[in-house]
Order: sequence, then structure tokens, then C-alpha cells
Amino acid sequence: MPSGKSFQCDLVTPQRILFSGEVVSVTAPGTVGSFQVLYNHAPLLSSLAVGKVILRFSDEKESLYATSGGFAEVRENKVVILAETAEREDEIDVARAREARDRALKRLKDHAAEIDAARARGALVRAINRLKVAGAG
Ligand code: ATP
Repeated sequence: MPSGKSFQCDLVTPQRILFSGEVVSVTAPGTVGSFQVLYNHAPLLSSLAVGKVILRFSDEKESLYATSGGFAEVRENKVVILAETAEREDEIDVARAREARDRALKRLKDHAAEIDAARARGALVRAINRLKVAGAG
């Protein structure tokens, strides 16, 4: 568990600010793999996959978010995560995510046109990620 110096982190979507404050660690789902940022991290710009963002605080507490897409920028002890969508684990609507998952699975089984299949796969990955972050099956 990291307990180093703290630095500023903003987690935002085009719609809202989910978090703005001091953290000791940020873990984010980079498109080439998940990465962790600690105090004095080198400058970094990464695109983000569907996955989870973990913020850790100096009191050893942490917050978990389901995110999809976007970018992360690390510069001079400031991290900005601009995600296409983000929900904190306790605000995920599990029933909605299950419905989205089942709808996407049905579309894929029905052999929808290729463009719809790509959309359905994206929806499926987002729904499964939300269920995982919410700790639901
Ligand atoms: P759905 O088909 O249920 O809308 P989706 O994956 O197509 O799912 P997105 O386009 O990723 O939805 O998100 C649209 C908006 O709805 C975003 O603001 C996102 O945070 C929110 N959202 C989507 N699913 C959930 C959920 N299960 N719980 C809470 N918020 C959600």
C-alpha cells in the first residue's frame, strides 16, 4: 500500500467532476495496460481503455471508479483523468448494467450487422466492467 507524498488529481468527464483533490496514488486503465502514478512521476499522456480507476489517499482509504475511454495526463505532480464516462462504485446501477450486458449479448447472438456487433461488443465490455467494479455478477 503506497503511503508517499500526496499530489493533485482531477477525475472528470465531459459532464461532471467526480473528484478533485489530493491523492497518494492513482491507478488508471491505459490502453497498453494499467499503470500507477505516485508522487514525482515522469510526465505522461496515455489514452484510456474501459476499466477501473483507483484513487488512494494518505489515510489509506481508496475510491474505485468504473471508467470508459478518455485520456490521462501526468505533469508536475498533477494528474488529470478525462474519461468518456465514469461512475464511483457506489453509484453504479447494477440492474441497468445487467440489462445492458444482456441486451448486448442478445444482439451478438442474433448476428446483427457488423457495425451493430462492434457497438454491442463495446456496450458489453462497459457493462461487464461496471458489474465488476460494483462487485456484482
Ligand atoms: P446503457 O445502455 O445502460 O445506457 P451504456 O454503456 O451505453 O449503458 P454509456 O454510454 O457508457 O452507457 O454511459 C451513458 C451515461 O450513463 C454516462 O453518464 C454513464 O456514466 C451513465 N451510466 C451508464 N450505465 C450506468 C450504470 N449502470 N450505472 C450508473 N450510470 C451509468
